Parts: sequence; structure tokens; C-alpha cells
Amino acid sequence: MAESLPKELELVVVTPDRQVVRDKVTSVSIPGSSGYLGILPGHAPLLTELAPGPLSYAEGPKVEYLAVTWGFAEVMPDRVIVLANTAERAAEIDVSRAERAKQRAEERLQNLFDPQVDQERAREALRRAIARIETARHGQTRR
Ligand code: ATP
Repeated sequence: MAESLPKELELVVVTPDRQVVRDKVTSVSIPGSSGYLGILPGHAPLLTELAPGPLSYAEGPKVEYLAVTWGFAEVMPDRVIVLANTAERAAEIDVSRAERAKQRAEERLQNLFDPQVDQERAREALRRAIARIETARHGQTRR
């Protein structure tokens, strides 16, 4: 007898501060460090590092978006656990704050020879800001 595959996934997204999602979902798209991973119920187990970007998940026809930054995701056939440094639902994102963070990071990155500027830190801040702006945009287009 063929083993039946799970029809849903339990998605858990937590940060050091709070639990952002705990839901039964039908698919998840994760911004992994080597690219996006599309996860359906029954997926083979894996562990991936996160990259800053939009994480999306479907609950039937409804698609929700979260901005995640660094962390890890563990995938099992019936569960996805995301441990993220930060995670905000699209509607929680303060776009003007993210635009300001993006501008600050871009200005720092232009000061190539200023020893006060930590280029790596500025690049990471820029990636977080872009992830938030992109996620907020996705969240708006579906409304
Ligand atoms: P900023 O310079 O604006 O603080 P940041 O990228 O340095 O941005 P983080 O250190 O990644 O901010 O996050 C600090 C906290 O603020 C986290 O709880 C994160 O969820 C929240 N946060 C950061 N930016 C935003 C935003 N644009 N909208 C909503 N929450 C945000």
C-alpha cells in the first residue's frame, strides 16, 4: 500500500522576540542562501540558511508575505520551522523606515575609502531594507 503524503504543512516562524506565524499552510517559499526554495507537503527533509527576502506561504487561495532576514529553516515532510533574526508581516512593515535605512546604507557604501564605514555592515543593512521594501510591495499587490 502506498504511503499517503501529508496534504498540509505546519509552518512556524519565530524570532528571538516573538512567534510570528503558527499555521497550517499548503505551500511555502523560503529565501534560502542559495536561492528560493518552494516547499510542498511531503518535501524531503532539509536545513537551509536564510537570506534576507520575502518568505511567502499559501493558505488555500490566500498568499501571505513576510520579510525575513538572517537565520535558518528546517524542512520536514509535514512541517517547516523558520528561526529568523527578524520577521515582519507585509502589513507590519514601515516602508518609509525601510527607505531611510536603504538610503543610509547606500550613502555609507559610497564612502569607499572612509575607515569609519564598515562596508559589510552597510551591505547587510541594505539587503534587509530591500527585503522589507520588496515584501511590503508584494503584500500590497495582492490586496
Ligand atoms: P533600522 O535601521 O531601520 O533599525 P535595521 O535593518 O537595522 O533597520 P533590524 O536590526 O533588522 O533593523 O531590526 C530591528 C527591529 O526592528 C526588529 O524587531 C525588526 O523586526 C524591526 N524592524 C526593522 N525595520 C523595520 C521596518 N521597516 N518595519 C517594521 N519593523 C522593522
